[in-house]
Amino acid sequence: MSDTFAHIRLDFPTLHQQVGNKPLVYLDNAATTHKPRAVIDTLTRYYEHDNSNVHRGLHALSMRATDGYEAARARAATFINAADPAEVVFTRGTTESINLVAQSWGAANLRPGDVVLITEMEHHSNLVPWQLITQRTGATLRYVPVSGENAEHGLDLDALDRLLTPEVKLFAFTHISNTLGVINPVADLCARARKVGALTLIDAAQSIGHEPIDVRALGCDFLAFSGHKMAGPTGIGVLYGRRELLDAMPPWQGGGGMINTVEYSGSTWKPSPERFEAGTPNVADAIGLRAAMDYLDGLGRPAIAAHDTALAALCYEALRGLPGIRILGPVDSTKRGGTVSFAFKDVHAHDVVTFADQDGIALRGGHHCNQPLMKKLGLPSTTRASFYVYNTPGEIDVLVASMRRILKFFT
Ligand code: PMP
Repeated sequence: MSDTFAHIRLDFPTLHQQVGNKPLVYLDNAATTHKPRAVIDTLTRYYEHDNSNVHRGLHALSMRATDGYEAARARAATFINAADPAEVVFTRGTTESINLVAQSWGAANLRPGDVVLITEMEHHSNLVPWQLITQRTGATLRYVPVSGENAEHGLDLDALDRLLTPEVKLFAFTHISNTLGVINPVADLCARARKVGALTLIDAAQSIGHEPIDVRALGCDFLAFSGHKMAGPTGIGVLYGRRELLDAMPPWQGGGGMINTVEYSGSTWKPSPERFEAGTPNVADAIGLRAAMDYLDGLGRPAIAAHDTALAALCYEALRGLPGIRILGPVDSTKRGGTVSFAFKDVHAHDVVTFADQDGIALRGGHHCNQPLMKKLGLPSTTRASFYVYNTPGEIDVLVASMRRILKFFT
């Protein structure tokens, strides 16, 4: 493959280091991505010049911080093509965004007899919040199965059609699986859910930094993502929600910033998004997130998607010849994002990751917050290599050579 983005490695200071005495090969991007200088400098500039609390201040610094924070909200809205900045709620990340919907919308709307539908490939953060709220409300939680011995066929869409009954009030699913790498047909899933009157929530944690997202074209009701998986800071993320839904939802946390009036006898709430942002918000990281969005759009998200998918396809082809390997997810590379998970018959993933670390390679081994899926596939854990825009084909050669040494050592 041609390496369109080789030059941008210089933008990422953390990539240029040795681990032990080997150059770092960072292939743990599904867990978190590195930050370009533009994001780091934006954070430094904010703390050196504008640092202040937002919204309630009438002095210069507070007004600058407020302008920066609200400009970040407007930028996030354009990044996902939301109709209105008020549809963007800043959260700590994907996990908090999903918990917000479960605790606020779920508590207000779910009753015994109602169904929340998710899938068997959900990350724990799009599974446990729904267990908690269905247990609390008496609603039922159901799962769309994945199919294939290695889940290579992705979601079972025939089963989905059987499960999408009028009792389903909300269907929540991931855009790209953090373990299988499969890209789900999210616009189609939203359209199917709409036919039975169910709301939809997309977990975009693994897609937001890799490909263009247009919430209106997708037709979703909610969408959740994290800044740190898209070259932005940790501790900041977004919940997108259609405005009429957010405005009808009750607050989930109380405190400063989210109220209109407070009396000893009771309080009234601001509209969305302030209603859902109690307390001092994460101003600096919202502004840093805006810099990350500008950076990614500067590179071009379709080009990033093509690059990451091409690297994952190269990796899949290079690994599949290794003895005793099982690779999860789609065989068809056009259905795969930038992630390849695999397991060796005779070597535990933790040994693989520890050994690879000695070669300077950062991988992840474990259940990847997908415990029920691992159990279904009969695997205690997998090793995951996940790619981002700064990775190169040469790094796959380093990975494969390391895997060959591991297999020789252990077998
Ligand atoms: N969903 C998916 C698909 C993920 O991969 C992750 C992070 N691994 C999350 C949700 C949770 O993201 P965060 O920890 O940033 O809240």
